[in-house]
Amino acid sequence: MKKDCQILWFKKDLRIFDHKPLFEASKTFIPTIPIYIFETNYWKQPFSSKRHWYFIHDCLLDLDKQLKSINSELFVFRDDIIKVLKTINKMFNLKSMYAHEETSNLWTYERDKKVIEWCNLNEVKFHEFPTNGVIRKLKNRNNWSKLRNKRMSEELYKKPQSLKTLKNAFMTNIPSKNDKVFEKGLIASYQKGGRKRGIALINNFLNKNLDNYLKHISGPSLSEKFCSRLSPHLTHGTISVKEVYKLIDKHKKECDLLRISYNKRSLSAFRSRLSWRCHFIQKLEDQPLIENTCMHIAYEGMRSKSPDKRKFEAWKSGKTGFPFIDACMRYLIYHGWITFRMRAMLTSFASYDLWIDWRKSGYVLAKLFTDYEPGIHYSQLQMQSGVTGINTLRIYNPIKQSMEHDIDGVFIKKWVPELKKVPISFIHEPWKMNLETQINCNCLLEKNYPKPIIDHKKAIQVARQKISEIRKKDGFKVNAKKVFEKHGSRKNKSKINHISSRGQLSLFT
Ligand SMILES: Cc1cc2nc3c(=O)[nH]c(=O)nc-3n(C[C@H](O)[C@H](O)[C@H](O)COP(=O)(O)OP(=O)(O)OC[C@H]3O[C@@H](n4cnc5c(N)ncnc54)[C@H](O)[C@@H]3O)c2cc1C
Repeated sequence: MKKDCQILWFKKDLRIFDHKPLFEASKTFIPTIPIYIFETNYWKQPFSSKRHWYFIHDCLLDLDKQLKSINSELFVFRDDIIKVLKTINKMFNLKSMYAHEETSNLWTYERDKKVIEWCNLNEVKFHEFPTNGVIRKLKNRNNWSKLRNKRMSEELYKKPQSLKTLKNAFMTNIPSKNDKVFEKGLIASYQKGGRKRGIALINNFLNKNLDNYLKHISGPSLSEKFCSRLSPHLTHGTISVKEVYKLIDKHKKECDLLRISYNKRSLSAFRSRLSWRCHFIQKLEDQPLIENTCMHIAYEGMRSKSPDKRKFEAWKSGKTGFPFIDACMRYLIYHGWITFRMRAMLTSFASYDLWIDWRKSGYVLAKLFTDYEPGIHYSQLQMQSGVTGINTLRIYNPIKQSMEHDIDGVFIKKWVPELKKVPISFIHEPWKMNLETQINCNCLLEKNYPKPIIDHKKAIQVARQKISEIRKKDGFKVNAKKVFEKHGSRKNKSKINHISSRGQLSLFT
């Protein structure tokens, strides 16, 4: 007779604390098989990368330790999920499966549909539980923030004392960090994963860096220290958003009790970002197609899907001839992270200056970001590329950004060493150097460092013109209103009726 069992499926929730599926599974006393699946097909997709896997690999080692502390263990399969389910079902009498809802790529969306179908066919009960503040089957946006805030105020799920597990049920190993599915070559640096590191980051942020958070949030180098750097931990769920809120509340209480002052504006800005996180992921939950379709349909086809190769390569490799753009891109390639403003500027440059479709630039960035979170990523890409129809156009001037955020050119000189000896007066616009200056600072234009690949002013003039023509088309405003009704933030509810004659809402959603 086959033994009964149930599966606990870990995906982007690599922890055992505040984990409802685990909590519920532990109450049944049916032997559990905790699994993580390294889906090779997923890792071949254009958005996934070895850098993500490096982070997850650390998290899985740590998750196995966490599970061992409750008398269990993790089984990591390198296969297709349906094949894994079939194998388990063949050896045991699989009764049910526990997991968090996942709002991710269209790829995982289709995969989940197959899993549900398989469970139904095989009479396996699939228990799915909500993730963070994302509401599945949300009827409309009006009540979203109320529902989400209620969710965030709920108690945390304690880790169970013990999880009855089918130990040694399978001999599995975590695939290597350099598994053969990935392209060869090392990655320069990567953020390390694991719950302990996530907890250390939030504590360090609250106790040491919070006061200077807003001051440095946009600076390309200081942001690395003063932002929380929690993003990959939230993406892969070593810590839940709800838990971060509880830690913030605890910190506030302790400060108040001990009469320690703290920067209230910074704390409130940080809390808002956690809320934006859920807000953006909710958009993808409500409309999975925004991964590959413009929110406002009128913008579909506006940019060619086959970008100018020379420009695309220059942007991807940090060789555009715009020092600050190149420094940011090279920093990102090295670290796998860069702060919000610089992500927005890199996207804006690709979308408006180089007229590259956001789906092309988006995959490049997705692979580079350790924290790649589809809901935030695709919504932000669309916003920063002007294709939502409900956000004000934000076109970044790379020279102005450079002068504001790297006044002395220290960041540029570090990441674009070709410009190391360029005088400060030319560091933001080296193309203005005459030949004598170029020779004196060992930086001959085109030989040592490229001339700008485009004329910024002209390029954005053309971009604005093209966008404005689309906005004037019949039906634009009607569709913009529909986008707003589906996805817009209700903080400025009154604005729903005030879409301007250009079909543009001045909202930050
Ligand atoms: C084009 C583009 C693509 C982006 N892609 C991603 C992505 O794939 N994954 C991702 O986590 N963030 C993404 N962001 C948002 C933001 O840049 C990062 O969340 C932030 O830089 C992460 O650093 P941190 O953890 O130190 O953030 P902190 O400033 O410390 O903020 C705390 C947390 O709030 C959330 N958050 C912060 N800013 C935003 C924001 N603008 N929108 C939504 N949530 C936010 C993140 O979860 C972050 O970890 C993107 C932004 C742009 C412009």
